[in-house]
Amino acid sequence: MTGPGTNVSQACAACKHQRRKCAPDCPLAPYFPPHRQAEFLNVHKLFGIRNIINAVKTVDPNQREIVVRSMIEEAELRVMDPVGGSCGMVKSLYDKCEQVKVELDMVFQQLAICRAKSKNVEVRRGVRSFYDNLMPRHPGNGALRPPRNNIEISKKTSVKNENDGVEALQIGVNEEKGAKKMRNIDINKESREIEENDLDKEDVKQ
Ligand SMILES: [Zn+2]
Repeated sequence: MTGPGTNVSQACAACKHQRRKCAPDCPLAPYFPPHRQAEFLNVHKLFGIRNIINAVKTVDPNQREIVVRSMIEEAELRVMDPVGGSCGMVKSLYDKCEQVKVELDMVFQQLAICRAKSKNVEVRRGVRSFYDNLMPRHPGNGALRPPRNNIEISKKTSVKNENDGVEALQIGVNEEKGAKKMRNIDINKESREIEENDLDKEDVKQ
């Protein structure tokens, strides 16, 4: 153990380096025991023995350990980076934070793109499902039938609605009616005139 009461043979690292007797009231003995010789040499090289002792004596006893620890770490950083020292370490960490912020922004942008793509896929599925429902189906196997006839009927009825000035809205409605008309034609051709008449009546109502 070191500290107050340390004899000459167990001199603290500071007294050993100064080649002097380590007094019982040596102010550096509690913080630089003999096995911390390397740490003391770093601190001594950066601050000098007088500044070390002054720094320890000018603060409260309960803060002296913190002061010495701070000086040791600063001296070690100076050894690691003789040019920048602790300031170089702070700058390095600051630059790393800025780099991480840039990467984080890129991740958020990619996330926004993925979310937008996912939303577009859902919209496309909804539109496809909507038009699948509009297309006529074979009465036997339920397979989709070519929409060409459906379109022709739609054109036929949409001409009427152009006069109403709401063509875009009416096209969808007319296609649905056209699909209904095509299915009725396939199932029972005799009902064609009846179905068309019914649809024409609905168009007149609109
Ligand atoms: Zn000493």
